[in-house]
Amino acid sequence: MKVLVINSGSSSIKYQLLDTETEAVMVNGLVERIGEEVGDLKNKAFPGTENEVVTEIQQPIPDHNTGMRLAIELITDPEKGVLKDKGEIGAIGHRVVHGGEDFHKSTVITDEVIAAIEACVPLAPLHNSANLDGIRVAMELFPEAPQVAVFDTAFHQTIPAHAYMYALPYALYEENRIRRYGFHGTSHKFVAGEMARLLGKPLEETNMVTVHLGNGGSITAVENGQSVDTSMGMTPLEGLVMGTRSGDVDPAVHTFLARNKGMDIEQIDTLLNKESGLKGLCGMNDMRDIHAAIEKGDKHAEIALGVQTYRNRKYIGAYMAVLGRVDAIVFTAGIGENDDIVRRESLKDLEAFGVEIDQDANAKRGKEPFKISTEASKVAVWVIPTNEELAIAREAREVLSK
Ligand code: AMP
Repeated sequence: MKVLVINSGSSSIKYQLLDTETEAVMVNGLVERIGEEVGDLKNKAFPGTENEVVTEIQQPIPDHNTGMRLAIELITDPEKGVLKDKGEIGAIGHRVVHGGEDFHKSTVITDEVIAAIEACVPLAPLHNSANLDGIRVAMELFPEAPQVAVFDTAFHQTIPAHAYMYALPYALYEENRIRRYGFHGTSHKFVAGEMARLLGKPLEETNMVTVHLGNGGSITAVENGQSVDTSMGMTPLEGLVMGTRSGDVDPAVHTFLARNKGMDIEQIDTLLNKESGLKGLCGMNDMRDIHAAIEKGDKHAEIALGVQTYRNRKYIGAYMAVLGRVDAIVFTAGIGENDDIVRRESLKDLEAFGVEIDQDANAKRGKEPFKISTEASKVAVWVIPTNEELAIAREAREVLSK
């Protein structure tokens, strides 16, 4: 089956067309600057192969509908395209950020599902609204194809109450749904599945700590294949030190900023989400720039790396305590897959917990999964590239096969 995976943002649409039989990527594309004076579209047919055809378009793209139409024209272009007709697309898989407590797994989209996603807009205003834009446009343009929603939060719906409740008045949970939900679920689930396969163990019997470190980051404790805790909370702001997000701070910092710096709620929200994290600490949010700056003696960059990797280590240790027995630790996403220094520092001094790293193996690079722990290490440590698009396509196929 050919599945079109759509990740719709407020001013962008990322899309990928996959063949679920071969799991080959047929098209990879990105529409950006929707609604701006000039929009950008980059479409790659047969990416990464010798038949790759790259098309770039710059023109006004006033809305998501226009962006998606342009993409479909390229996908079905008689010369540059990969399909004769859009009718060949068997399903559309949509990434949806917040499914609240309503969605424990991926779901075929119906009017009720749309209403439930809409009901989660207050929990993730920018993300869910943008995801809904993508869903509506796809339903208009592909009226025949089944549409499947794959939620970032769904994998974490197995987290027990003692881990998802905040110690706030209980009514705030009952009336306002304030609790921890967790995100990046598609990625954590994907690498957990891959890890179990590589270990040759049933997923339902495997315990692991999955470490997703990209521009956003989260760590999950996976017990017998199920998420039992994760570092992100009601929103993706909680937990790790990220590119521009602070991660955990004392909630009283908000009050302090309001009282002493006269900041309002919007300013504090922007500060914590957009101006903090690595960027706040050293002015850079890309880990490659931070390493280059450390080489040149930049003290703030060094502090930023230290704060980030120390926080990672604290969460890894905490989740090892949560799990008791740990079969594996898995690193994934932009930093997790590529940055051996971050991995080394995040795993420092964990020998007493049975974690022994082979630093030569850790220094390796690769697109395939690779092991970075020693043979003697009680806990296997691996780097496994995440693939959220493939995970979404697999979910869509699975949901529709039932
Ligand atoms: P993601 O959100 O998974 O796409 O990850 C993006 C982040 O990964 C970037 O902001 C970089 O900080 C980081 N990254 C990507 N490539 C590398 C690399 N080769 N070495 C270190 N960090 C990297």
